[in-house]
Amino acid sequence: MPSYKAPLADMRFVLHELFDSKTIAELPGYQDFSPELIDSVLEEASKLCEEVLFPLNQSGDLEGCHYENGVVRTPSGFPEAYNAFRDGGWTAMASSPEYGGQGMPISSSTLVEEMLCSANNAFGLYPGLSHGAYVALSHHGSEELKNTYLPNIVAGKWSGTMCLTEPHCGTDLGLLRTKAVPTDDGAYKLSGNKIFISAGEHDLTENIIHLVLARLPDAPAGVKGISLFVVPKFLVKEDGSLGSRNGVTCTGIEHKMGIKASATCALSFEDAKGWLVGTANKGLAAMFTMMNTERFSVGIQGLGLAEVAYQNAVNYSRERLQGRSLTGVKYPDKPADPIIVHPDVRRMLLTMRAYIEGCRALGGWVARELDVQSHSEDSDAKQAADDFTALLTPIVKAMFTDIGFEVASLAVQCYGGHGYIRDNGMEQYLRDSRISMLYEGTNGVQALDLVGRKLPQDGGRLLSRFLDPVLEFIETHADDDDLEAYITPLQTAVEHLQVATGHIMEVAMGNFDEVGAASVDYLRLFGLVALGFMWAKMAVVSLPKTESFYQAKLGTAKFFMQRMLPQTGALLSAIQSGSETMMAFEDAAF
Ligand SMILES: Cc1cc2nc3c(=O)[nH]c(=O)nc-3n(C[C@H](O)[C@H](O)[C@H](O)COP(=O)(O)OP(=O)(O)OC[C@H]3O[C@@H](n4cnc5c(N)ncnc54)[C@H](O)[C@@H]3O)c2cc1C
Repeated sequence: MPSYKAPLADMRFVLHELFDSKTIAELPGYQDFSPELIDSVLEEASKLCEEVLFPLNQSGDLEGCHYENGVVRTPSGFPEAYNAFRDGGWTAMASSPEYGGQGMPISSSTLVEEMLCSANNAFGLYPGLSHGAYVALSHHGSEELKNTYLPNIVAGKWSGTMCLTEPHCGTDLGLLRTKAVPTDDGAYKLSGNKIFISAGEHDLTENIIHLVLARLPDAPAGVKGISLFVVPKFLVKEDGSLGSRNGVTCTGIEHKMGIKASATCALSFEDAKGWLVGTANKGLAAMFTMMNTERFSVGIQGLGLAEVAYQNAVNYSRERLQGRSLTGVKYPDKPADPIIVHPDVRRMLLTMRAYIEGCRALGGWVARELDVQSHSEDSDAKQAADDFTALLTPIVKAMFTDIGFEVASLAVQCYGGHGYIRDNGMEQYLRDSRISMLYEGTNGVQALDLVGRKLPQDGGRLLSRFLDPVLEFIETHADDDDLEAYITPLQTAVEHLQVATGHIMEVAMGNFDEVGAASVDYLRLFGLVALGFMWAKMAVVSLPKTESFYQAKLGTAKFFMQRMLPQTGALLSAIQSGSETMMAFEDAAF
């Protein structure tokens, strides 16, 4: 049986020591969130995650969701757990007080999200999608729509969905066919079929508020003709109470590889009543508001699953007795040494740890900038934060989820054959982590977003929001001998990033396939540099301290710098080799 303990010490380190949480509390609207208050919120969240949600993770996977005649039941215990989650105010955590939310900084709520994903990723999707719907509606909805839907979504009485995908259209939303026809009362009637809709139907909330992409009758073809609509499962009466059932039904749920307790639904819209959100034909842009929030959250799913997989791999490696240390018996009182003595097992554990703590720090940096972007009154600071988060969102989404899967796979490896056995729980983490590389835009599409859109945007201004602080940091610490082990490898990796960026910008002019061919390797290279920066910063904080926590940080930082960051060199070579080897290969030869 796996176990989970929220990594509160490391979370506090990122919040308070690596990034000063007091500066977040200085932003308008966040004054109440003192470091002490945030710590107590994290403590409470850890109890809920460890005691209520984690115990339902394996049973939820085994049982899955049930579908019958349009009705979906979540696994046993899920409705009660959701009630506890909602009654504890967790659905309101990161929403505005204007709609009954607690207005918690994103830099804190992200840590709660991480715990949720570690404890029960499939459960976390239900409130996660609702929050995405909240974000899209609060940014783009009319006052009337906001007042009708947001208070109940925030209170967790109603949940939300994101309805983009259709059977013939996933990445290429320009192909979508769902239609919206205006009616005399200013509303619309929607007809069409959506598939793969997470939380599209379930038994956790009284109402489900679908955000649906559809086309108006006179809409231009392609992505320029897509509009966003809000379509409730039950129509809402003037007094706010629930009215008749709307024309949206769940026609089935998917049987899938992982996150089995999350209902992935096929939805049929038949003259379903809906209301336009934002401007006609600008739905994709509005939906992107939600997708960016969701993309960051999906990255955190990768981190959460990596954390729980790592914790169990460490426990197992301490207990499992196999073989003797290569350098002599370490535990003579035992019939064999625990496998944690073996260099290869340590390689796996440290790789997992370096990824996880690096990602937690990087996620903390991005979340902090999201706080600045949403709450600062300084327009320059807001713009800088907007640029930075736009640049880093595809990296967090794609790299963190790739890492989630890699770490889950390493955890299976640490367990040996026992990792492949269901009761031990590791194979579930591997299955559950795989989806996050696909939904919210596949990781290949994230890489294209980074290289094709974010890099060239505004003459490279976005990139400078990342590179400037990194270069400044290197310059500040360049002469510090104690930091040489961290700064020199970082500097080399940054040079690789700069060369790769220059190369892509140059070749992109002549041939866009060059961009496509380089994009995934470039995203990873960029992500590794960002993790390298985080590890160097963590080393600076840890160096003067003697406690074991900080010594472990320094040890992990060295491992990352010496054994993992040098991958940037190989990635640069791959990027520089260009697209020729793939594009010259005849289609028929595959
Ligand atoms: C469990 C689950 C839950 C989901 N939840 C939701 C949800 O709540 N709401 C929703 O709307 N959707 C949801 N989805 C759908 C999900 O977002 C899509 O599956 C995903 O966006 C990919 O679309 P696709 O499956 O059609 O793949 P395709 O678009 O067909 O892509 C297939 C492959 O081709 C690549 N590819 C496609 N186009 C390009 C390109 N231009 N350049 C380079 N490579 C390309 C992709 O990267 C991928 O590797 C969910 C899916 C699953 C499985």
